Amino acid sequence: MSAPPAAAPLLGVVADDFTGATDIAAMLAARGMRAVQTIGVPEPGETIDADAIVVALKSRTIAAAAAVAASRAALAWLRGAGCRQFFFKYCSTFDSTDAGNIGPVAEALLADLGAGFALACPAFPANQRSVYAGHLFVGTKLLNESGMENHPLTPMQDADLVRVLGRQTTAPVGLVGFMTVRQGAGAIRAAMTRLAEQGRRFAIVDAAGDEDLLAIGEAAAGHALITGGSGVAMGLPENFRRAGLLPARADAAALPAIAGHAAVLAGSCSRATLLQLGHARSLFPVLEIDPLANPNEAALAEAALDWARPLLGARPVVIAASAPPERVARVQQALGRDEAGALIERTLARIAAGLVASGVRRLVVAGGETSGAVVSALGVRRLTIGHAIAPGVPWTLAQGSGPALKLALKSGNFGGPAFFPEAFETA
Ligand code: ADP
Repeated sequence: MSAPPAAAPLLGVVADDFTGATDIAAMLAARGMRAVQTIGVPEPGETIDADAIVVALKSRTIAAAAAVAASRAALAWLRGAGCRQFFFKYCSTFDSTDAGNIGPVAEALLADLGAGFALACPAFPANQRSVYAGHLFVGTKLLNESGMENHPLTPMQDADLVRVLGRQTTAPVGLVGFMTVRQGAGAIRAAMTRLAEQGRRFAIVDAAGDEDLLAIGEAAAGHALITGGSGVAMGLPENFRRAGLLPARADAAALPAIAGHAAVLAGSCSRATLLQLGHARSLFPVLEIDPLANPNEAALAEAALDWARPLLGARPVVIAASAPPERVARVQQALGRDEAGALIERTLARIAAGLVASGVRRLVVAGGETSGAVVSALGVRRLTIGHAIAPGVPWTLAQGSGPALKLALKSGNFGGPAFFPEAFETA
């Protein structure tokens, strides 16, 4: 086997959704790896200069066969790019059904890598997700009593992940229990070796604190594939440094300065975003879009851009469709629930393109679906991960078919009340 070129990436991550991808990329960047997130699988032969590459798929809730195909394509690209170790990133609440997609994807990746065993650990104690005796807790609640049992797409009605993953895979699933994990990396490694020798292809690994995640990461240094939430990626950068593969980087999350106008686009109606907009009103010009005024995306976008253009500068303008529940209900009643959401997403996406055409180069977007619509309207293909503004929300350098720009994509509920001004203080 020929050695990969010197600049080859070390870790290749297949992530089952967009914001989850950003989450793990930010975790790796904060711990010293230069991380790039790609939107979908890159083109064959495309090169990316990074220590970790995270391919963001939308495979969490699609049919299992389609999720497997997309994940295998991502893995093949990452292998071709020279990555040495691979990570399958899913949600820290193990979002899936008995039909998949975590088990089928993990089995397919394991088979493609010719590997016999992978650990599974969704724990993320900093976000209140812990695993004990194979059971997933959200705060003090078992997963199936946390509200996740009512999730519209992936209702989680069993907190016993050994059972859950067992139903999704073809072989019995093992467990590395908490007492073993607390004994450190050596004990965890020995337990995983034993389970693999017994024919287990996967094992749930307990974890309740960052020290557990660091020990699990160390124990998995030699594994071809690791599966889990972003928490268990915490220990991986140190493995590469220990092996002399990753230099100590003074600032892996440094991004170049980009000159240009600043703006916020908000399509999230979550409580956190509504609070953030309330806070921003006393600082920045804010336009509220009323979709019922003229439910046509071209007209709504043009009116918003006419308002924004004279105000553009270093001080951000804020354009928001966000509304409290009673107003959202009125809009949904008038337009239909899906069409209301889709119309607003298309409107905000058009506004994003118009703002960039008018010189905006630093843009914060609030809302997961909204972010997806904006990224695709802007033709963004990859995000180089910078410093976190709030946990899980880094500034990124976005590149694609348009001009390079700084983009911060905020999942609705993330960030404190002063998130918007804080973002621009560090952009
Ligand atoms: P979050 O991350 O908070 O879930 P998303 O962007 O994923 O935010 O979802 C918010 C959804 O609500 C989007 O589809 C958006 O278009 C829609 N939406 C935004 N404002 C309104 C409104 N005023 N009325 C109805 N729907 C809205």
